[in-house]
Amino acid sequence: MKERACRHCHYITTEDRCPVCGSRDLSEEWFDLVIIINTESEIARKLRESIPNAAKVPGKYAIRVR
Ligand SMILES: [Zn+2]
Repeated sequence: MKERACRHCHYITTEDRCPVCGSRDLSEEWFDLVIIINTESEIARKLRESIPNAAKVPGKYAIRVR
């Protein structure tokens, strides 16, 4: 199944709505991803500097979403 990225929090999911923030605003056009295991890690903090809603729960996040 096609993975899509949430335009709100950048979470990557195969569902029809984002399981993290509940948004149905999902995009098939996304580029690069990071896997967040620890939401307090340095990479998670860095991700939130550019995408404030990202990396609030562990998972895969798109760096760029069109
Ligand atoms: Zn979301």
